[in-house]
Amino acid sequence: MLQLEGLAVVVGAALVWVFQDRADACVQAVWDLMRTRSFVRHETFEPVVSVASFAVWHAQWFVWDMVLPRTFTQQFSIQPKADFDHWRFKRGETLWNEALWYIVPLALFDRLYPRRALPETAPSAFGLALEIVSMLVMYDVLFFAAHLALHTVRPLYRTVHAKHHRLKHVRATEAVRLSPAEEVLDVACSIAAVNTLGFRRCHPLSRALYDVTITYLITELHSGYDTPWMWSNIIPGGLWHGSPHHCEHHLTGRHYFAKFCGFLDTIAGTVPAKPLSHPLLAAAPARTHGVMLHAPVGKTVSPYDAHPTPKEHVY
Ligand SMILES: [Zn+2]
Ligand SMILES: [Zn+2]
Repeated sequence: MLQLEGLAVVVGAALVWVFQDRADACVQAVWDLMRTRSFVRHETFEPVVSVASFAVWHAQWFVWDMVLPRTFTQQFSIQPKADFDHWRFKRGETLWNEALWYIVPLALFDRLYPRRALPETAPSAFGLALEIVSMLVMYDVLFFAAHLALHTVRPLYRTVHAKHHRLKHVRATEAVRLSPAEEVLDVACSIAAVNTLGFRRCHPLSRALYDVTITYLITELHSGYDTPWMWSNIIPGGLWHGSPHHCEHHLTGRHYFAKFCGFLDTIAGTVPAKPLSHPLLAAAPARTHGVMLHAPVGKTVSPYDAHPTPKEHVY
């Protein structure tokens, strides 16, 4: 199955290469349609794309958690199936509130500093793909450094990052369960990535598709599922991290500080010697009540010490 998916990606890329003139024309046609629309020309179009994408991807994972038959979803489940508690935020912490906290400051900034310019020419198909992947990597490099600092400096962890680690059995909702400071930090990494790549702003079409892609990947990372069609199972060599890695990060807080780029953890030496298996992840305590279960980065505490091997695997 895995080899077939990898093969499909290679064949798809080869087809785009062979028919690149046609692919470039398609991208240009889509961009010609988009750039004349008033809502695309709006200063706050990209933040709105991000919020709308988050809403769609959250709805998708809600269906996985709460609607699809468990007999189907269980085969992909890393941690136990969510109940409604996972989808219920504390008072004042609804998904809509998180969206408002995200979009209102950006909309105000756009109003004060209008700068949206839409070029007539679209990027080539390969240029588009390259810009999106490069922005994802740039975002993750910046996020990795910030994330490592959040786990290394205890006061920072407690005041900025602990909220995101409150539930050990992560679901897609955790993607936006961020303190205001962490939300600013996360958005800053993204803004820096889209504006500084190659010392210029990436094409608006690339930026919009980056918004759609990264919001999907972040919700997928927190979904608690590991399906064969996820990027982490298609891209070989552990280059791309997925939900199992991030679930382990939420559980131990000691490894896998990158969201996507596995090589960042390899370079930094933050890959565990022996990754937790899915049953271990499933059997860990569901909640920490805001207490950091793990030792700060730098101390040699095995995740297995904090969560001994369960006798019964809860899959
Ligand atoms: Zn997370
Ligand atoms: Zn963390």
